[in-house]
Amino acid sequence: MSETIFSKIIRREIPAEIVYEDDDILAFRDINGQAPTHVLFIPKRPIATLNDLGEDDANLVGRLVLAATRYAKAQGFAEDGYRCVINCNRDGGQSVYHIHLHVLAGRQLSWPPG
Ligand code: AMP
Repeated sequence: MSETIFSKIIRREIPAEIVYEDDDILAFRDINGQAPTHVLFIPKRPIATLNDLGEDDANLVGRLVLAATRYAKAQGFAEDGYRCVINCNRDGGQSVYHIHLHVLAGRQLSWPPG
């Protein structure tokens, strides 16, 4: 796949407010936050969309979600609640083609989405 801006963030070529990192996952604040907390959890390995995940990625995806839930608990908004979203392709509203889990919290989020 072609590189995205997220690869540059992983390599520290452009700045980001990083809130979590391990060997396989990076999390940083969304530059255009839609809630008081809006963080993106991404695999360091570039995978373009949900459609590109294979069986071998099950562990990685699980760890991505668990990293987000740990973050929610550590930041103290787990009980109030939050939303995790992965947008896929055009109709899903995906704009950066490197899988990312949005974590939104800190206000009442509306449903259904527009
Ligand atoms: P999506 O529309 O689901 O692909 O989400 C992409 C997200 O990446 C958007 O919420 C953008 O605000 C965010 N984004 C784009 N560039 C950056 C950046 N350089 N640093 C942090 N977040 C970014």
